[in-house]
Amino acid sequence: MPYGLLALLLLAVALFLALRSRTRAQAAAPPPPSPPPGVSSGAMSGGPLSRDELAAKLRRLSESKPPAQLNPGAMCYSTARPPETAEYLCPRCGARTHYSKNTVVVRLIQRELPSMREAVKALPGIEASLEESELCSKCQPDRPAVPLPTLAVHHPDGSVTRTRGVGMDDLKLLKEFLEGKPAHAGGRDAETSLKKHLSRIGELLGVQVPEGAQE
Ligand SMILES: [Zn+2]
Repeated sequence: MPYGLLALLLLAVALFLALRSRTRAQAAAPPPPSPPPGVSSGAMSGGPLSRDELAAKLRRLSESKPPAQLNPGAMCYSTARPPETAEYLCPRCGARTHYSKNTVVVRLIQRELPSMREAVKALPGIEASLEESELCSKCQPDRPAVPLPTLAVHHPDGSVTRTRGVGMDDLKLLKEFLEGKPAHAGGRDAETSLKKHLSRIGELLGVQVPEGAQE
């Protein structure tokens, strides 16, 4: 049976070559395009919302009824001592800046900044980034006594709205607003009507708050 064996061998070789060329073709395929680092592409499929669309959304909120029930928030006893020093690691240039005796900045670096970075990336429907150069001694040698992060909202028309000194609470407001929530969960999850924060939301997004809006 030499012919039968030969045929089997040829078949095996052909199969091997076919499989190899297929995996090669897959490896050669270009990777899918990724958004630029540090900028959230927005979870909505139709791209980021324009200023007009954001203004219309803000108007709808101003005309909506405040929620009937609000969570009063849970009691919480914190015994953790606040940290006294912090080292800021710049995500842009890699330099380390040491802070001590600056309670606001130490607290910001240790407790808020990591979650703020994540929160900015996760904002749905807008393109936003967190600018931290004030915190880095190399990126900004002449920095203010209390350096603060700045939220930058990149609009589809190319303009940018910048707000210096944003906190985690601001980013929560934006997320709740963009997701269409009626209430804002503040400290210890105590809720307030989101309508009470119209002016801050408008400021952060660079959008005019409708005139005569009831907060
Ligand atoms: Zn830097």
